[in-house]
Amino acid sequence: MTPELDGDAVADPNYDDEFDAIVVGAGLAGSAAALTMANRGLEVLLIERGSSPGAKNVFGGVCYTPTIRELTDFDGAPLERYVAERRFSMLSRNDETAVSISPGEWHEAPHNDSYTVLRGEFDEWFAEQAVEAGTTLVTSTTVTGLVRKNGRIVGVETDRPDGTIRAPYVVLAEGGNSLVSEGADLKATETRENVAVGVKEVLEFPGRDEVIEDRFRLTDDAGVSYHYFGEGAVGDAFGGGFIYTNDDTVSIGVAYRIEDAVAADQSPEATLNAFKSHPAVAPLVRDARTVEYSAKTIPEGGAESIPDLVHDGAAIVGDAAGLVLNNGVHLEGTNMAVESGYHAGNAIARAADQGRVGAKALQAYPDALERSFVVQNLERYAWMMDAVEADRDLLFEDLPRAFADAGTEYFRMDRTPKEAHAENAKRAVLDAVGGWTGAAKLALRYRKVVT
Ligand SMILES: Cc1cc2nc3c(=O)[nH]c(=O)nc-3n(C[C@H](O)[C@H](O)[C@H](O)COP(=O)(O)OP(=O)(O)OC[C@H]3O[C@@H](n4cnc5c(N)ncnc54)[C@H](O)[C@@H]3O)c2cc1C
Repeated sequence: MTPELDGDAVADPNYDDEFDAIVVGAGLAGSAAALTMANRGLEVLLIERGSSPGAKNVFGGVCYTPTIRELTDFDGAPLERYVAERRFSMLSRNDETAVSISPGEWHEAPHNDSYTVLRGEFDEWFAEQAVEAGTTLVTSTTVTGLVRKNGRIVGVETDRPDGTIRAPYVVLAEGGNSLVSEGADLKATETRENVAVGVKEVLEFPGRDEVIEDRFRLTDDAGVSYHYFGEGAVGDAFGGGFIYTNDDTVSIGVAYRIEDAVAADQSPEATLNAFKSHPAVAPLVRDARTVEYSAKTIPEGGAESIPDLVHDGAAIVGDAAGLVLNNGVHLEGTNMAVESGYHAGNAIARAADQGRVGAKALQAYPDALERSFVVQNLERYAWMMDAVEADRDLLFEDLPRAFADAGTEYFRMDRTPKEAHAENAKRAVLDAVGGWTGAAKLALRYRKVVT
């Protein structure tokens, strides 16, 4: 194949003729792109720096699977538990105020397409689906740069001897720490306020059968996704904590703005330890042993920081393109990674059919993404980070305390009539938000989170 560059004369780019497309990174976005292209008849090389796909991956995590279910025979996927309960807690120093959602429908397949997974197993299985479709997977190989010819991207450099590989299309699916894309000036380095750091531990409970079922009130394959905010979760930082139940382990972690991590006098590890010892959290993880510790950055720039997604000969997908929604209620990157890989793979297959490699020929990818839930969801919450930053003290410190005080007052058991308790409870919240006017303004400001 000798693809045309959108009407420009094509100099001989010396493709190796072995592969039509090279995918950098066998995470969810990369494997989705590889699988989609292989299904469309392209010869695909998928390059992963880890010893196996997922070996280097860190996440909470709940994997949201509507697109993977469409792309694969999902019955064989290595899932831990389906999410049967989502719980949102405000933590002040010693108090917890929580809301729990556990609809009966989530117990029925397909379980709201929300499953806890361990990425080491899940990413390996997903990459295997791409391999079964014809993709060549190479592991323990790091892409160190891109090869250009007349400005066009025509291949990759790797850390292997004779490690240059040329092909008409390169998909950059390297995750949030996107050194190759940044090194090739395909995207700017994210500013610190647009990046969070996540640290996570996987805990096991040696010799304690059924401990997860008992502590989290679970039966069979049901699991939970618990989210925590407020100073009891991550001090005065902008972020929160999480607990997810796996089959026989628990994932616990905190994620907050890197700027706060740099400014704070305690390390992310110490913040996680403080979260683990909060009175509302400690009983859930008592007698646990840490079997895995990991840390990673999360792009949080939202819609505004999506870079140009296509270039002559290349497309950027998943976290590398900043496609993560984190608004306090939703932390979703897995579904966006797969969706973007799928659309990029389709656009490349179509361009390959037409024998074209230019950015214009790949424009079908950003166009499809724009119409999909990915960009629509990111745009819907684009305003939110600035609003939360402006209300930071209120949301992370004053409100959790006020709700705890209100709850304490409302249910106080003494010989005073309930009317006085209710009035004190109301006062605690209104004082924090600036009276009825402040409450109305706050509700108006954040209405889009729930409506
Ligand atoms: C602490 C934390 C908690 C999270 N929790 C959730 C959650 O509960 N639910 C959710 O939906 N999302 C969550 N996310 C976000 C989610 O993990 C990401 O959005 C998702 O993994 C992005 O997939 P990806 O394929 O784009 O990138 P990644 O999963 O990061 O995959 C990138 C792959 O590329 C490889 N790679 C990188 N550079 C190179 C190179 N130069 N050469 C070769 N290979 C390379 C890496 O080894 C990796 O395998 C969380 C993230 C973090 C950090």
